[in-house]
Amino acid sequence: MGKIKTMILVLRNDISEQELSHILEKIKQLGFTPHISKGIKKTIIGLIGEQAERYREIFESIPGIESISEIELPFKLASREFKEDSTVININGVEIGGKEIILMAGPCAVESREMLLQVAREVKEGGAKILRGGAFKPRTSPYSFQGLGKEALLYLKEAKELTGLLVVTEVMKPEQVELVAEYADILQIGARNVQNFELLKEVGYSRKPVLLKRGIATTIKEWLMSAEYILSGGNYNVILCERGIRTFETATRFTLDLNCIPAVKKYSHLPIIVDPSHGTGVHDYISSMSKAAIACGADGLIIEVHPSPEDALSDGPQSLRPHEFKQLVQELRPIAEAVGRKL
Ligand code: PEP
Ligand code: MN
Repeated sequence: MGKIKTMILVLRNDISEQELSHILEKIKQLGFTPHISKGIKKTIIGLIGEQAERYREIFESIPGIESISEIELPFKLASREFKEDSTVININGVEIGGKEIILMAGPCAVESREMLLQVAREVKEGGAKILRGGAFKPRTSPYSFQGLGKEALLYLKEAKELTGLLVVTEVMKPEQVELVAEYADILQIGARNVQNFELLKEVGYSRKPVLLKRGIATTIKEWLMSAEYILSGGNYNVILCERGIRTFETATRFTLDLNCIPAVKKYSHLPIIVDPSHGTGVHDYISSMSKAAIACGADGLIIEVHPSPEDALSDGPQSLRPHEFKQLVQELRPIAEAVGRKL
């Protein structure tokens, strides 16, 4: 099999409707799916497939194309070569990847209606725009709390209606995508499923934004290839989330790899947020790492907040109490401003 290349057609700024539809027609005729990226300065079309470059000559003689280039990187649609401008994902007016730092907060797992509604109100007051809460939980032990399932989705919906917060929650298998998408504004793909390719394909067919967590042993390139699965299905709304990787270190639960923020920003146009709860596993380290994450360019944070962490059914030791979350947001504001962001 030949190496998969992407041929990039940079369109002329004065291209006519007719010329554009002719180009799209031609691409489909040749058996490719055209992926269009409209930038501030340029509009480009990517043709992805085996030996796409073979058709270069055809496109060289079609009017409306300014130049043709190729992407050699294994990830194509996720790359900055395909899309130079950073992607901003707008969900009901909440912009992820724009100037504002977006905070997602809430319990690891939805444990009851009361606790969820309480946390939702508190994190909203604190400045969060998005409520997190697991309905289906991937637990290391089969004996641990597995989540309330559909019941939790109903509570998330209620919390959303009550507070106006958007909702992010995890989907663990392809058959669940339709159900979870009915209730969630953002579909979370957990660290353990980052290379569950069937699940990635399924959320790629959905048009709901996806929060794609990094796997515990996933390189940045592998992670971007996972994003590519979703983008290639036509879902361009992917938010990356660094949540710590496995290293030899055991003093913290995982090692939060903040190197990946500038690296991902270099290679990719996708927004990226940081999860300092899972990244450290330690309540006391969340504040420092949240500040560091914003300082190094993260577009947002996802933080676990529980009204009573000692009673939590999952991830209590890495959860903030609501008043601690509110305090942290105050401390994050000047840091956001110092790096030209808003919070
Ligand atoms: C979570 O967000 O609660 C979670 C299980 O995250 P991860 O997939 O990063 O472990
Ligand atoms: Mn958790």
